[in-house]
Amino acid sequence: MLSQLTDAFARKFYYLRLSITDVCNFRCTYCLPEGYQPSGAPTKRFLSLDEIRRVSRAFAALGTEKVRLTGGEPSLRRDFVEILAAIRENPSIKTLAVTTNGYRLARDVAVWRDAGLTALNVSVDSLDARQFHAITGQDKFHQVMAGIDAAFDCGFAKVKVNTVLMRDVNDHQLNAFLHWIKDRPIQLRFIELMETGEGRALFARHHLPGTVIRDKLLAQGWQLAPRGRSDGPAQVFRHDDYQGEIGLIMPYEKDFCLSCNRLRVSAVGNLHLCLFGEQGIPLRDLLAEDSQMDDLAQRIAGGLSLKKQTHFLHDGNSGITQNLSFIGG
Ligand code: SAM
Ligand code: SF4
Repeated sequence: MLSQLTDAFARKFYYLRLSITDVCNFRCTYCLPEGYQPSGAPTKRFLSLDEIRRVSRAFAALGTEKVRLTGGEPSLRRDFVEILAAIRENPSIKTLAVTTNGYRLARDVAVWRDAGLTALNVSVDSLDARQFHAITGQDKFHQVMAGIDAAFDCGFAKVKVNTVLMRDVNDHQLNAFLHWIKDRPIQLRFIELMETGEGRALFARHHLPGTVIRDKLLAQGWQLAPRGRSDGPAQVFRHDDYQGEIGLIMPYEKDFCLSCNRLRVSAVGNLHLCLFGEQGIPLRDLLAEDSQMDDLAQRIAGGLSLKKQTHFLHDGNSGITQNLSFIGG
């Protein structure tokens, strides 16, 4: 199906990142160093299963082919399996992915796959168990690693791993990470640390430009692969000696936003046109009844005309984004 979601800069949007909760059980230093803090607003409820079903149906009708569930930690939702099944009710959504900290994988990944999950990103910031604990606040390195093994065992041919490399924290592990993917079909995605409202001091101390990693990869014989439509802004590198591959996500790189292919819906049902944008367009009033579907699709498509050409991170402007758990990274 042709995407009906096209913006003023001729970018087409096939990909929805849907946050289903802000809550997280980890305390990553660059995201929620104090852990999840409830907002205190008793009225703040996350999208219900039925609301998620409707939002995914509207996006599917507009040509969306891929949905990624994120958060917070999406697998904390008790109805996570039902959410997967509800999204897979849309035959045009071919890829259903989740980004997870991995703590539930070993136990549940096979069930998720049976419910319709087709792709998996697991966040792993260190291959050293003690450092993993220090970065995430959770002593769960071995549990997460067992989870990745379980994903392969239950039939995922490839797993993506997200790693935020930080200067003077875990950047010395680059070669250990490369060694790890030598014989494993893992796409290791190095995400450049992004500045958020709450993370300014950490950013100033530990930001490592993605270009530094790219130069090291090129020097070791890695080669940039041609971009696939679903790659989005990632630059993918391959090497004949490695089964795994590298994806570099460099939001500070010139032209990063040219290949933007994703829209976001927050856990309270606001459409965000950019990870670092402003308030978001409320959709929730149109999620109560199936009969509102046309109005919902119209609001989503109409909202897209407001999408800006680029973010303003270069100017130290991270919009309303205080941390990435709020809108799903
Ligand atoms: N809890 C899940 C997880 O950690 O995979 C999903 C949500 S998390 C916000 C999604 C991704 O955003 C993770 O891979 C995390 O490493 C990344 N992330 C969070 N804060 C970031 C920041 N300030 N800069 C770069 N990446 C960040
Ligand atoms: Fe939780 Fe993911 Fe943020 Fe870590 S990056 S605190 S796991 S939401």
